[in-house]
Amino acid sequence: MARRNKALLEIARDIGGDEAVEVIKALEKKGEATDEELAEITGIRVNTVRKILYALYDAKLADFKRIRDDETGWYYYYWHIETKRLPEIIKARKMQELEKLKKMLQEETNEVYYHCGTPGHPKLTFDEAFEYGFTCPICGEILHEYDNSAIIEELKKRIEELEIELGLRKAPKSKSKKSRRK
Ligand SMILES: [Zn+2]
Repeated sequence: MARRNKALLEIARDIGGDEAVEVIKALEKKGEATDEELAEITGIRVNTVRKILYALYDAKLADFKRIRDDETGWYYYYWHIETKRLPEIIKARKMQELEKLKKMLQEETNEVYYHCGTPGHPKLTFDEAFEYGFTCPICGEILHEYDNSAIIEELKKRIEELEIELGLRKAPKSKSKKSRRK
């Protein structure tokens, strides 16, 4: 549950930044709350709270019950967190991340980059490097082919981890586990 909670907060942050995280936390604590109660708890303006709630609702992460006050005839909206679809949403996000990493890997594999050797200076494609006469646009040093094998290794590792998590690839058998012999 703790891991799911972390995922929920991460998604909330993507949707509405720190304020959305605060709203989710407040909802978790209260279980059910109106927008005004949430505004009071979090100190966030009620308009913003409302915007966040609708964004969470769109993402299928929050839902509400409409309750009529018999005396005043007014309707109150009681919001709660909805986690039924969370695993599905997490999976979709991981698939997206996987596609992004694969694309990055493809770019890193296909493209040769040129770099002056100073960290922070730009990596240029062949065409870009050609345009600058194979000198760094910042420091003017001569550009060399950039060794991106470490990046490629890292990307491959992350892709593999994600694919295992998504069940698209079998986890490698851990060979180093001590076989207990009697
Ligand atoms: Zn440079």
